[in-house]
Amino acid sequence: MIKDMTETMHAADGVGLAASQVGRTERVCIAVIGGRATPIINPAITDRSMETDADQEGCLSLPNVWVIVPRHTVITLEYTDIKGKKQQRRLTRFDARVVQHEVDHLDGVLIVDYAARTDA
Ligand SMILES: [Zn+2]
Repeated sequence: MIKDMTETMHAADGVGLAASQVGRTERVCIAVIGGRATPIINPAITDRSMETDADQEGCLSLPNVWVIVPRHTVITLEYTDIKGKKQQRRLTRFDARVVQHEVDHLDGVLIVDYAARTDA
């Protein structure tokens, strides 16, 4: 499944893909971290910087839609890796943004939900 998801992500020129985007219910996503497609199983963001940064994001599930989304600039991510080993990583900037986007997918949140929030 992770191999399929990674291929799907690369084929679509994406930097992340969540299981929910390919019709699966597992809490799994792929995110490009430090330039490498990284399988992330059962992710939990356990710490978030106060500082946020707003930048434009797209989504493979929403072609041609771009939304300005505020994200925490630094996060701590805990997850299980492809070998079943628990990992804890501190991610910044782009890496942190991609992971927050993918974890949102697993929680049923899309970038358009941020747009709706701003307009309200
Ligand atoms: Zn997305």
